[in-house]
Amino acid sequence: MKEGTFMIVLVVNCGSSSLKYQLVNMDNEEVMAKGLVEKITLPDAQLTHKWGDQKKEVVQPIPDHKVAVKLVLDILTDPEVGVIKSMDEIDAVGHRVVHGGEEFAASTLITDEVMKALEKCSAFAPLHNPPNIVGIKACEAIMPNVPQVAVFDTSFHQTMPAKAYMYGLPYEYYENDGIRRYGFHGTSHRYVADRIAEVMGKKKEDLRIINCHLGNGSSLAAIQNGKCVDTTMGFTPLAGMLMGPRCGDIDPAIVVTLMDKHGFTTKEMDTIMNKKSGVLGISGVSSDFRDLGEAAAAGNKRAQLALDMFHYQVRKLIGALAAAMGGVDVITFTAGVGENGIEDRAAICNGLEYLGAVLDEERNNVRGKDTCISTDDSTCALYVIPTNEEIMIARDTKDIVSAR
Ligand code: ADP
Repeated sequence: MKEGTFMIVLVVNCGSSSLKYQLVNMDNEEVMAKGLVEKITLPDAQLTHKWGDQKKEVVQPIPDHKVAVKLVLDILTDPEVGVIKSMDEIDAVGHRVVHGGEEFAASTLITDEVMKALEKCSAFAPLHNPPNIVGIKACEAIMPNVPQVAVFDTSFHQTMPAKAYMYGLPYEYYENDGIRRYGFHGTSHRYVADRIAEVMGKKKEDLRIINCHLGNGSSLAAIQNGKCVDTTMGFTPLAGMLMGPRCGDIDPAIVVTLMDKHGFTTKEMDTIMNKKSGVLGISGVSSDFRDLGEAAAAGNKRAQLALDMFHYQVRKLIGALAAAMGGVDVITFTAGVGENGIEDRAAICNGLEYLGAVLDEERNNVRGKDTCISTDDSTCALYVIPTNEEIMIARDTKDIVSAR
C-alpha cells in the first residue's frame, strides 16, 4: 500500500462477455468510479464508465478480457475522466468467483495453488468460473505485483450441516463427484446479515435471519448465529423457487420424461430449464418482473399466474427455512425485486402473519433503502436491505491483503 495514504481496491466481476468493476477507497468505502464492459469479443463492444454523477461511453472492438482490463485501467487513470493518476495507486484487486466448491469456506488470496483449485471448481460452474478465471489471469498479467483476492458466491454456505447439503442419492456421488447443495448469492446473503444486525442494533449472533435475495436469479438463506444453516439454491443456481428464466425445483423425473419423449439432448434440456422456464416460460411475456406486473395489470392471466407462483413459492420456502431454525426473528428483502417490488413484497408477506410478521402497507411503500416494513407489534420484523456485493468483496480484499 502507498505510504501514508489509504487503500484502493479494484473490484472485478467477469462474465463470459462482460466485466463489471468498481474502484473503492477503503478509507471511507467511497466508490470512486464504477463501470461495465459489455459485448467483449464483439466489434461493437462498449465500456460505460461512471464517476461522481458523470458518465463516459466508449464503443470499440474488445477482443478479450485482457484488453477489457487494460481499457478499464486506461480510463481509471485517464487525465480527463479518470480518478487516479496511475495504476500503481491500486493496492489490491478483489474478484468475484462464482464457485469455490468445498475447497473454499472463505475468501482467499490468489496463489498458483488457489488457481489450480479454481480450475477444478470450474467443473461445477462451467458457465461462470471460466470467465472469472480469465479475469484473474488478465489482471495478473497487467498488474503482476498487485495482490489479488477471490471472493466466492458459495463460501458463506459452507457452514451448512450435512443434513442440509446432502441429496438423497447414493453417497458415492457425493464422495466421487461432489454432488451436494452448495448454495449461491453468498456474498449478498453475508452482506445483508451483517447490515440487518447493524440496522437493528443487534448482534447477528442473536438473530435468526431469512434473507430473500430476489432478482433475476433468486435464493433464500437461513442465517442463525451469523452462519448460514440452509439455502434454497443447490448444486447449481437452478434450484429453489422459479426465477426469471429458470425453472427452480421440479420433480427430477420430469427431466428424464421430457428427454425420452422429445429426444432432447442434455444441452437442449439444460437450455429449457435455465433459459426458457421460470416466470418467462409460464407467462410467455418476459423474465422481467416489471413487465410481468404491467402485463398482469392489463389482464394477462399467464403473467398473473407466473407472479402468483413466484410469490407463493417464496412464501413456502420462507416457511421451510423458518422451520429449519425453529423460528425467525427477521425476514429481509434484497436485490432487484426484493428492493423495488412493492407489490411483490406485499404478495409474499400476505400469509406470513402466523410467523408474527405483519407488513405495514405504508412503510412497504419504499424502494432501495434500508427500511423496516413491518408493524411495530410484529414479533418477526420485515426489512428492505439493499444488497452491496461489491463492498463485501472490497472489505474481504482489504482484510486479507492487510493481514499478510
Ligand atoms: P440479477 O439477478 O441480474 O442481479 P437484479 O437483482 O438486478 O438481477 O434484479 C433484476 C430484477 O429486478 C428484474 O426482474 C427487474 O424487473 C426487477 N425489478 C427492478 N425494479 C423493479 C421494480 N420497481 N418492481 C419490480 N421489480 C423490479
